[in-house]
Amino acid sequence: MKKFHTAVIGGGCLGSASAISLAHSLKKIGGKPESICLIEKNVLGSGISSRQSGLIRSANADEASAHLAKISTDMWLNIKKIWGIDLEVERAGALWIAKKGKNGSNQKWDAISQNLKKIPIDFKKITLDKAHLICPHFINLYEDEIFYHEPEAIQLDPTHVRQQLYQGIQNSNLTLFEGEEVVGFKKNKSEKITEIILTNHTIQVEHVINAAGPWSPKLFEKLGVTIPISVEPVFVANWLSSLASKGKTNMPIIADYVLSLIHI
Ligand SMILES: Cc1cc2nc3c(=O)[nH]c(=O)nc-3n(C[C@H](O)[C@H](O)[C@H](O)COP(=O)(O)OP(=O)(O)OC[C@H]3O[C@@H](n4cnc5c(N)ncnc54)[C@H](O)[C@@H]3O)c2cc1C
Repeated sequence: MKKFHTAVIGGGCLGSASAISLAHSLKKIGGKPESICLIEKNVLGSGISSRQSGLIRSANADEASAHLAKISTDMWLNIKKIWGIDLEVERAGALWIAKKGKNGSNQKWDAISQNLKKIPIDFKKITLDKAHLICPHFINLYEDEIFYHEPEAIQLDPTHVRQQLYQGIQNSNLTLFEGEEVVGFKKNKSEKITEIILTNHTIQVEHVINAAGPWSPKLFEKLGVTIPISVEPVFVANWLSSLASKGKTNMPIIADYVLSLIHI
């Protein structure tokens, strides 16, 4: 039976990134990157990751999440150095839009803006005129709205991200099991997972990373482990501007418009 240092379950963005990073770290301390395996039941990026829009924003009401998002954004910008892959990054920035409050401002967002300075993340209130300058002409902006600009937000091409994850996996020399589903586990007396049962064979493992996303609760139910993940609906509106007519896009990421309307 084949033995692995770590098995990562789920080949979405998170599982692929974890497996690649782990393979690189293990190599640095003299370990074998091929002893990291990534197990994906379909093909890489076919789960929730197939729907993502490639927007990388750091602004977040929760300080810890904002901090992690900032680290992640900086890593994406340096991905060539970290994983040896080429990824085109569009520095689009993000425009956050909400309805104005009664006093003409939005206290919650003002507080978030102040708080984010500590990290530091640039997230500033801007005027309607400035918002018009940032946006292409076909985006309607109104007097009763309030605008915040996050200039450091970036936009990736989701298809390109998926191609480059394959490249990153190849460069890192980890072992990829694609089209193989985890169907069960074996544990020792101390309740540690020692074997993972796949559709066609069983492997021995020292460590397990769960990155099976929304499939996790069902998978780990078999071990009596409760994973508190629930799937929430999201509302996303994406616009594409023409690169041909403009030569270069100046389309910022438009964030939270739909959600802010719903909250009102
Ligand atoms: C419409 C939409 C737009 C989004 N846009 C953005 C965005 O612009 N920016 C952003 O940062 N985030 C965005 N997100 C969120 C982002 O897509 C998710 O947070 C991210 O893709 C989650 O990745 P994951 O690896 O955790 O999960 P997944 O991609 O779901 O990966 C889990 C994988 O596990 C596999 N798996 C499950 N069970 C097993 C098993 N038993 N054995 C083997 N494999 C198994 C599945 O096949 C799947 O591939 C968006 C989400 C949606 C829905």
